[in-house]
Formats: sequence, structure tokens, C-alpha cells
Amino acid sequence: MDTQTSATGAETVSDTTGAPPFESWGRYPSYDATIVPLSWQGDFPKVIDGVPAGGALAVGMGRSYGDVCLLKDGTLLQTTGMNRLLAFDAATGLLTAEAGITLAQILDFCVPRGFFLPVTPGTKYVTLGGAIANDIHGKNHHHAGTFGNHVTQFELVRSDGSRRLCTPTENPDFFAATIGGMGLTGVIRWAQVRMKPIVSRKIDYEGIQFHGIDEFLALTEASKDIEYTVSWVDCTSTGKNFARGIFMQGDHSRIPAPLTKSPEPKLVFPMELPGFALNGFTVGTFNTLFFHKQIKKRATALQDYEPFFYPLDAVLKWNKMYGKDGLLQFQYAIPWEHAREGTEAILQAVAKSGLASFLAVLKAFGDVPSPGAMSFPKPGITLALDFPIKEGKTFELFDRLAQMTMEFGGRLYPAKDARMTPEQFRAFYPQWERFARFKDPALTSGFWERVVGTGAGL
Ligand SMILES: Cc1cc2nc3c(=O)[nH]c(=O)nc-3n(C[C@H](O)[C@H](O)[C@H](O)COP(=O)(O)OP(=O)(O)OC[C@H]3O[C@@H](n4cnc5c(N)ncnc54)[C@H](O)[C@@H]3O)c2cc1C
Repeated sequence: MDTQTSATGAETVSDTTGAPPFESWGRYPSYDATIVPLSWQGDFPKVIDGVPAGGALAVGMGRSYGDVCLLKDGTLLQTTGMNRLLAFDAATGLLTAEAGITLAQILDFCVPRGFFLPVTPGTKYVTLGGAIANDIHGKNHHHAGTFGNHVTQFELVRSDGSRRLCTPTENPDFFAATIGGMGLTGVIRWAQVRMKPIVSRKIDYEGIQFHGIDEFLALTEASKDIEYTVSWVDCTSTGKNFARGIFMQGDHSRIPAPLTKSPEPKLVFPMELPGFALNGFTVGTFNTLFFHKQIKKRATALQDYEPFFYPLDAVLKWNKMYGKDGLLQFQYAIPWEHAREGTEAILQAVAKSGLASFLAVLKAFGDVPSPGAMSFPKPGITLALDFPIKEGKTFELFDRLAQMTMEFGGRLYPAKDARMTPEQFRAFYPQWERFARFKDPALTSGFWERVVGTGAGL
């Protein structure tokens, strides 16, 4: 095994067997680990039984941005081979499947039968297990809460060989610890989730331009009855264009239309771009073009669900656009009390830094409580920003933004994180010690080692 340090200071460990390392979406940090594919239910629990000293971690599609799905010198249990549908009841919408199935595979099965995911993130290439372990949220958080709000039961396999059926009433502590538990409480073998009925693939869409956080908040207030809302915000502009954006809202169309399966995406991002390709100029130009793409203040359309929910999935492996040093995402949730001032201050800091991001997503979280003990969302504003990793500068900015988030009483999302300090983690998630009581002693992750750092034992 060779250890090198890249231009960004990232420790890169290459596997001399030549197998490609398991990467997170941000491709940072880059760690070696032994990958053990789980294919059959009989593979449990023996693979986690004799876990070597480095610990183990179940992983899905690696669509987390940072190290919550990585483990240096440990064993990654790759679950994507465990992707079978086990049961579906069209009368109730209850779907049971192995945890390695992707949301894309669930949609292929369910949409032609008139059902859709109750909550979906901005990519459908995540597994059911990953959706539960990070308790993901979507554009309908203000109506539907998190993914965990729609999970009725799952089976959790522990490294001592025990299997627990977890529901809100049976093993409720393990149910709560595992939803948003970052894979640390055990391996989810299968789960049941309640799907929602639809009659069309289409979304009644409306896009509305806004200028500034006050206008964003007014649109949020006016759209309370609309199921899906999300905004793109220009985080490069200052002055009169500061915090301009497009507020996007939609509901599933109620007019019946053919419920066909989605075609496979054909485009794959062809190569890694050089580090200088994404700079203040190119990103600023993109932001201006994106804002003016919608000529009118308001635009409506009957839009297919694919571009509405998954615009980025049209090009596979688009993370290569950020070059070999990868990208970091910064996502906070700041409670209503400080949401407006916190968001303005952070957007100002980003614009001033010149380290622009063109994927800046702004949304108001609702107040549906999550069943997960460690879930990220809380009522207030969430902002997600992508940045290419540029030596020194990006980390400096991240550290500043994380500090500001802490001062505004907010928290960061572990699924997107690669920089949170132990002190910040304890402030963001003060319930972590109670959560740690449910952690499986054999399981750990790069994230957990970084923020708690006591080895697989705690
Ligand atoms: C383009 C893009 C858009 C996104 N949009 C959103 C969004 O809108 N909202 C949002 O919340 N997130 C979003 N995400 C993040 C993504 O939804 C989460 O990181 C998700 O958890 C990834 O699932 P995965 O299958 O890739 O799991 P991985 O990233 O491989 O793993 C994630 C976690 O799940 C655990 N895990 C996986 N399988 C199991 C199992 N069987 N048992 C126990 N633990 C398991 C892992 O240990 C790890 O802690 C986005 C990511 C991308 C790339």
C-alpha cells in the first residue's frame, strides 16, 4: 500500500491490488479500505463477525460528499448487491426491499404502478440504507419531514450476530438511533417504506425570480400549501444583485397521464477538468446566465419529475468536473431565530471569498419532527454550497463558515461534511453521547474517527 500527500494535503492511499478505491461524491478524503461485497442475506452476519481491528462500515452508492461513508484501513461492506425487492402492497403503498436497492430502482418499479417516493434527495442514485442512515430530506421537508418519517420498520444486524426488528414501538431506541445514525448502529439488512400514490409523472412547476432573503422568505410563506419548494441562489453577486435567485415550486400533477419508466441517462462526464477551469469568472458567468435563463419574473410548466427532482443525474459522474482534488459541500441548517441574518452573513462571506459555488441550494425546513435521534434538519433555513477544493483557501473558508454556523445556533450535515471539528460536532449534536450508547463496537467511519476519535470501540 502506498501513502502519498496530494496538492491539497489530502492523504491519498492507493491500493496496490489495482482495485479502484471506494470514493465519496466529493472524492475527498481518499482512503484505502478493504471492500467486501454483500450479496446474499446469508452473508450476514458472518462478514461483520470477524471484523478486523480497523473496524467496518456498511456503504451504499457513496453519494455522501465526505467521510461519513469512508473508513481508513478498515472494511467497507458494499451493500449494492443486496438490492432485491421483497414485497409491495399496492393497497397500502408499503414497499419492502433489501437495503442496497437504489431509489432509482425503486422508482423504476413503483412509478409504472402509480407510486412515488415519499421523500427524495437531489439524486436518485442513493440506496435505501443510505437514505435511512443519513435520514435524508427533500424539497417537501415542510410537508413530509425526512425519509425516516416514512420508514415503518427495518432489520438491523449487529456484529455480535444479533438481528433486531426495529419499528417505532419495537426496539424504539435502535429505531431512533439508526435513522440518521450514519451506519454506526449496525447494518440495515432490509427496510419497509410507505410510498405515495401519483397519477402522472408530471409536476405542475412554477419558477419565480427573487432578490434577497426577504423576498425568499415571503415566497416561502406564500407557498406553504405547495408540496415541493427549493431555491437556487446566486452566491457570487454583491450589491443590488446580492442573494438573487429562482424559487422553484411544484406539486404532482393531478391530471392522469402515462406512468412510464424513466429512460437510462446517456451522458457521462468525460474527464477530470483541470483545477483552473472552475474559477470566479466561469462560475460568476454561469450564475448570471442561470438567473436570466428564466426571462420572466414568473414561469410555469408541466415538467417531468426527472428534471424537477434530479437535474444533475442527467450527466453521470459530474463530480469529475471539479478535477482530481475533488469538491467539498457545505450545508447548514440555522434555526428561524437567526436564519435570516445567518444566511445573509454566510452568503456575504462566500461572495467576498471569491471561491464561488454554482450549486447553491436554499430551502426552508419545516417543523415535522424526525424520528431520528441524530437527524440533521431542524426548523429554519438550510443552504447547501459546492466548492472545488483549492489548496488552503477552501478549507480556510469552510472553517470560517462552520464557526459562523455555530455562532448562529445552527448545525452542519454529516452527509456533506469532511471538515467538522470535534468541538463543532459536540455543539451541533449535543445528544451524541446518548446516541453513542447504541453504536455497534465493530463499526466506525472516517467521520466518526474525526469527530469522536476513540476507535471503533465507542
Ligand atoms: C447530487 C447529490 C444531491 C444530493 N441531494 C441531497 C438532498 O437533497 N438531501 C439529502 O438529505 N441528501 C442529499 N444528498 C446526499 C445523499 O442523499 C446522502 O449522502 C445519502 O445518504 C447517500 O446514500 P448512499 O447510498 O450513496 O450511501 P453512502 O454515501 O454510501 O453511505 C451513507 C451512509 O449510509 C450508511 N449506510 C449505507 N448503507 C447502509 C446499510 N445497509 N446499513 C447501515 N448503514 C448504511 C453508511 O455507513 C454511511 O454512513 C445528495 C448527494 C448528491 C451526490
